[in-house]
Amino acid sequence: MQKKNKIILVVISILIIVLSFCFVNQYVVVDVPEVVQQDSVPVPTFEFGMRTDTFSIHKGEIKPNEIITSLLLKFNIPQQQIYEMVNKSKGVYDIERNFIAGKNYTFFCTKDSLNNPQCFVYEPNSLEYIVFDLRDSIQVYKKKRPIKTEIRTASGVITSSLYKTLQDANISPVLAIELSNIFAWTIDFYRIQKNDWFKVIYEEKFVDNKSVGVGKIIAAQFNHSGKEFQGHYFVHDGIADYFDEKANSVKKAFLKSPLKFGRLTSGFTMKRFHPVQKINKAHLGTDYAAPKGTPILATGNGVVVESAHGIFNGNYVKIRHNNTYTTQYLHMSKRAVNKGEKVKQGDVIGYVGSTGLATGPHVCYRFWKNGKQSNHLKEDFPTAEPIQKQYRDSFNVVLQENIKKFEEVVIKGK
Ligand SMILES: [Zn+2]
Repeated sequence: MQKKNKIILVVISILIIVLSFCFVNQYVVVDVPEVVQQDSVPVPTFEFGMRTDTFSIHKGEIKPNEIITSLLLKFNIPQQQIYEMVNKSKGVYDIERNFIAGKNYTFFCTKDSLNNPQCFVYEPNSLEYIVFDLRDSIQVYKKKRPIKTEIRTASGVITSSLYKTLQDANISPVLAIELSNIFAWTIDFYRIQKNDWFKVIYEEKFVDNKSVGVGKIIAAQFNHSGKEFQGHYFVHDGIADYFDEKANSVKKAFLKSPLKFGRLTSGFTMKRFHPVQKINKAHLGTDYAAPKGTPILATGNGVVVESAHGIFNGNYVKIRHNNTYTTQYLHMSKRAVNKGEKVKQGDVIGYVGSTGLATGPHVCYRFWKNGKQSNHLKEDFPTAEPIQKQYRDSFNVVLQENIKKFEEVVIKGK
């Protein structure tokens, strides 16, 4: 009996000790604010979240044909650890498959004579980096660098193409694509002319003070054959889009052309000399020449009513947009949609080719209005929804701000 009591006493006292430890631990967990004497301690610098002064740092570029294993072995990382690093990277960033020559890497090693790697960083692009933390257990994670956005303006007078004009002015040609997207419904970029001019307000993105590309266009002004077009970025009701100075959407029911870039080679005419058949014949379409394989876009929303091959048409697609309009695209090298498929404006429906009766790679674009073939370039399509009344005041604030900025831009060469 006495022995049993003793055991119970011991068990109880152990329990008390354990429990008290638990409570003590709870108190230990409480954060004690750290006192940092910033005046006397130099501010440490960080790279990839690592303190640069506490490591010996080795930087380099992946060599052609170099694989992850050979690089890590060079830094004396054991085979077993390499295997683990590669394995752990798979859910984050498959380093083995995406180890690309020319990309930057950094090793953070101990400062002693052993120079033991503590951390390996791989930079697949200028926006993000992959960290392999080798201290304790291996941890792999992807981080994004902070991006700073600045508002810029650009302007120019068209000399040849919009693309070339921007390139000559040292402005990212990406803007050309963005600009032609905004005005795709109103300006035919195959027909822009010398002395057309533009002004654009846009975002430029920076990482570590280095430009990493163009963001969105805030506003653009394009003067084409003496006619002025404007597009102002405006968000309302969850819709982000471009509107002209009268608050109308810049979007129309159809794109001006089924290609992003290319060359109008033959317009719509009731009579033309056919280059293959060598006879005068009506050309009830508009031809756009472009390299084989250039994506062909649906010019409007609709349903594919035909996707087939014909002796004259080659591979072609026909889209019914509504009761009024139907479009057709001929001579494709490859079709990308099937009959019955729903397509949206701008969707790729096929690729430029020269199948059927064609001398070179081009797309013959045909347009029907109420069952009659017509020249799409002469059609005036209804505009998409304008900004609703209750948002007009806030749109006008944006508009005035943009116009003021436009006035400050002086066009070089005009
Ligand atoms: Zn044609």
